[in-house]
Amino acid sequence: MEEVIRCVGCGVEIQTEDPTKLGYAPASSLEKEQIICQRCFRLKHYNEVQDASLTDDDFLKILNSLGTTESLIVKVVDIFDFNGSWLPGIHRFVGKNPVLLVGNKVDLLPKSVKASKLVHWMKHEAKELGLKPIDVQLVSAEKGLRIRELLEVIEKYRNGKDVYVIGCTNVGKSTFINRIIQEVSGEKNVITTSHFPGTTLDMIHIPLDDGTTLTDTPGIINHHQMAHYVGKKTLKLMTPKKEIKPKVFQLNEEQTLYIGGLARMDYVSGGRRSFVVHVANDLTIHRTKLEKADNLYKEHKGELLSPPFEEDAKELPELVKHTFSLPEGKTDIVFSGLGWITVPEPGAKVQAWAPKGVNVSIRPALI
Ligand code: GDP
Repeated sequence: MEEVIRCVGCGVEIQTEDPTKLGYAPASSLEKEQIICQRCFRLKHYNEVQDASLTDDDFLKILNSLGTTESLIVKVVDIFDFNGSWLPGIHRFVGKNPVLLVGNKVDLLPKSVKASKLVHWMKHEAKELGLKPIDVQLVSAEKGLRIRELLEVIEKYRNGKDVYVIGCTNVGKSTFINRIIQEVSGEKNVITTSHFPGTTLDMIHIPLDDGTTLTDTPGIINHHQMAHYVGKKTLKLMTPKKEIKPKVFQLNEEQTLYIGGLARMDYVSGGRRSFVVHVANDLTIHRTKLEKADNLYKEHKGELLSPPFEEDAKELPELVKHTFSLPEGKTDIVFSGLGWITVPEPGAKVQAWAPKGVNVSIRPALI
């Protein structure tokens, strides 16, 4: 019988095949007496957190346990994918604990967007989704923007209690936690992990000055995010790295915009008007006539209409149509994880297409 080797740090089963999966350790490490997985290794030696994700059931267990603590919950969302990175129903689980909402990746939004307006918008959207955060903060974990300010705000609201950080995968939570570790832990190796009952994953505890801890919980996978349906190269291209440059299109009725070959918007009716596309700068937008749109996709998906590319075009689920009559005011049509199209004037009828399983929705305009 094959022997199961476990990490001495967290107890996860060691595997040497896939560095991106849990429990990875390089084959050479198997010769050591005490084997430790790469994740624990990095934490121990570099005070650095790696991505960890878990199943819906495990996540529910963790959430339920948060409700029994007395703590401050810090919920991280991705500003670029607000709805896609929202964890629904959070308010039901956290009990009486206050929730501080943190919008990460603020560096991606055009500089013209006012922070105060964005905070107001996030409060409004959070309320619509059933959550009344105690405060809303904007940061860029990657650029290190406003991290210190955030820590001050956390200090103010936690009142000597423990802090739990929650968020779904891809919101930048690991980057965020690593920033916090840099800020709060002068000494090395003070960070600990503990096994969460019933899961193979750890909570990571960062000690705070007064003997309490800031705890990183593993990220939940939000299945309707585009990231889960595309290959690596596509994901790289569709993930914005820099400030998004909005692209404006004046469309007539019965015209279609393709965002690469990943999504499509048909403008059905409402007179000539403008549409403002907010996606990663490197994605190409194609305009065509609605009557030609189906054929174009059939013949040119993965080539003219890319990404997806040849290698992942076949894997991409078929595009599914969502029909919207846009309400009063300025509206965003959101393709979860890919970006959004702002329609400044009300009253248009549009059809928005995204790969099956990817969420498409409308919301009051963010910008
Ligand atoms: P996790 O899955 O939530 O732990 O997310 P990661 O920390 O692995 O980050 C996911 C992706 O978002 C990576 O490509 C990061 O480089 C990127 N990212 C994280 N924080 C920021 C940020 O503040 N701004 C931008 N533009 N990208 C970020």
